[in-house]
Amino acid sequence: FVKNSGKHSYAFFNKEMDDHLKQKWQMKSLLREAITNDGFKMVYQPQIDLYSGEILGYEALIRLKGSAVSPKDFIPVAEEDDLIIAIGRKAVQMVVTQLCQWQQKGLELKPVAINFSAVQIHDYNFKNHLLKLLKENNVDPNLIVLEITENVFLENTEATLSFLQELREYGIRIAIDDFGTGYSSLSYLTFLPIDTIKLDRNLSMKFLNFDSNAVIDSFIALAHSLGLKVIAEGIEDYEQVKRLMIGKCDAVQGFYFSMPLEVSDVEKNFYKIYQI
Ligand code: C2E
Ligand code: MG
Ligand code: MG
Ligand code: MG
Repeated sequence: FVKNSGKHSYAFFNKEMDDHLKQKWQMKSLLREAITNDGFKMVYQPQIDLYSGEILGYEALIRLKGSAVSPKDFIPVAEEDDLIIAIGRKAVQMVVTQLCQWQQKGLELKPVAINFSAVQIHDYNFKNHLLKLLKENNVDPNLIVLEITENVFLENTEATLSFLQELREYGIRIAIDDFGTGYSSLSYLTFLPIDTIKLDRNLSMKFLNFDSNAVIDSFIALAHSLGLKVIAEGIEDYEQVKRLMIGKCDAVQGFYFSMPLEVSDVEKNFYKIYQI
């Protein structure tokens, strides 16, 4: 292709690659800078009980302070090298210290879910780092949920299983994120040490489509029969809410109820009951 496409295309091809690499390099230096200079913050999206409207907990979502760059764009870049390890540690640190502050303000704490990248399985000290933070800040491990995706099991199955088991022995809970995308194997659910599955936004959207209803209803039923809770992600309209109630889903998260919130807004809405 390159050989036959003439001088001009060849140069163009190189320039595209060049821009791409340059952008990535810039992103990495932005991330490195944020790691050393406290450049990240968390926003918190409520997870709502589908029947009572109560806030059951939150998902912490990372942001670069003063930048609109989405984690959808910078997390994959960070995952290419050790940056994700440092960012992953910052993430748990921000959440645990936040919980500690809420506790000091006398707020009744609710669990907070933290995303855990598959690459972080290579951070052999993650567990100790998290446990130490919890201890230092006097925060109950029961308040922490780790969200992992199924691809963490693709390689490292054994290492991942024992990692999750150890965390659970301390009371930390595990959720499977983006369930129904990737390699969803239902048989996984029968033996994984997990507490919750989160139905991916794309699945939740398909909920309105007749063909997928039976599939999602049976995901939920299977999860329940295994003692797991089900949260549907990316809920944007009331049609989805109604359909999820019929399927007996437990909880919902999405723009229909709330965007991810800044800390001050979390505090203002701490005991809010959402109208279902
Ligand atoms: P995720 O864990 O599946 O998080 C859900 C994403 O969906 C969030 O995007 C959230 O803002 C967005 N969302 C929530 N409700 C709706 C809705 O109703 N409609 C739509 N269209 N989107 C909705 P966000 O915050 O941009 O994060 C994107 C992804 O980046 C996350 O997907 C997660 O995979 C990753 N991520 C975010 N924070 C962290 C972190 O601290 N550590 C790691 N490793 N990954 C993170
Ligand atoms: Mg998540
Ligand atoms: Mg998700
Ligand atoms: Mg996702």
